[in-house]
Amino acid sequence: MKTMIVVYSENEKLMLELLAKGREIADGLNTTLVGLSIGKNSSEREQDLIYHGADQVISTGKDQEYFKAEEYSQILINILNELSADIVIIGNTKNGKELAARTAGHLDTGCITDCTKLYLIDGKKIVAERIVYGGNALAVQSLSSSPKIYTMIPRVTDALPKDDTRKGEIIKKEGISTVSSSKIIKIQEKKIEGVNIEDAEIIVSCGRGMKKKEDISLIKELADLLQGETIGCTRPISADLNWLSEDHWVGLSGHKVKPRIYIAVGISGQIQHLAGMRGSDVIVAFNKDPEAPIFKAADYGVVGDLYQALPLFIQKIKQKMG
Ligand code: FAD
Repeated sequence: MKTMIVVYSENEKLMLELLAKGREIADGLNTTLVGLSIGKNSSEREQDLIYHGADQVISTGKDQEYFKAEEYSQILINILNELSADIVIIGNTKNGKELAARTAGHLDTGCITDCTKLYLIDGKKIVAERIVYGGNALAVQSLSSSPKIYTMIPRVTDALPKDDTRKGEIIKKEGISTVSSSKIIKIQEKKIEGVNIEDAEIIVSCGRGMKKKEDISLIKELADLLQGETIGCTRPISADLNWLSEDHWVGLSGHKVKPRIYIAVGISGQIQHLAGMRGSDVIVAFNKDPEAPIFKAADYGVVGDLYQALPLFIQKIKQKMG
């Protein structure tokens, strides 16, 4: 059997990250990387997938207007059977996880979801890492069945830069027949307050170090000053105290972010929070406890009371900016 690698996500950004990961593994195994483009707008994406690392793109045309796991898994299985692919990497979105599980169930094969890392050992065996037990342990797992199906969480791999000199093959595979027992009646997009936090370049985030809801104005002031598009928070601020909506919640069970700058204010830095932001380019932490775990993840740290340190920091930035 060929060790072909197939990657797919309905999320365009995540798809480019998967291609980078797939490229790394395909190069290690000296094999072909196939990007799948399914459904609406699939033909517009084809060339871009080649430019971002795919050797081959299989595009299934416009038959599927909306994502439906039962139809998408039939398409995926059809393609996997034809390619005899051995490794499948799917984006770890809600849709992607359903697709992976359904496909694995139908093919009676193994599936590892929520992967934070995928890599080769001994140049041939693929190993996955995932956070388990609510963030208290790291599982290192491998699959022995075939095809091996993995879902990778967003923002743990950087997309490769676009290289429009890359050449690859685009294969149109329209009209794969699917049977569906359900019907989508209406799709209602969720309203997001301000900018989607997952796309923000600068995030100022707050935790339980804040004494009351009104004090979030300090966080907003700093975010505005730095032209941060939105603010973030820990789970207690959103889920327990309801001070901010879950659009702002960062972490294992919240949003995964990877901004250029992440400023953590009054956040202890428990593993479940770090799981959502530790890939940020630069992390700055304000905490009065010098032993707070956030300082282990931070590039810059301020040990002190946020109510004294943050206004001073804001004042200094204002001075610098004139
Ligand atoms: P705390 O841990 O209470 O930390 C507050 C910090 O503020 C402390 O370090 C303290 O020293 C500091 N502080 C207090 N006063 C001041 C002051 N005046 N000035 C400066 N510093 C001060 N959490 C998430 O954030 N995201 C998740 O997605 C998430 N998912 C979870 C999933 C599971 C299954 C479980 C079990 C937990 C999850 N959690 C998540 C919760 C997580 O374990 C922590 O409880 C949470 O991140 C702690 O939030 P915090 O840092 O705001 O609060």
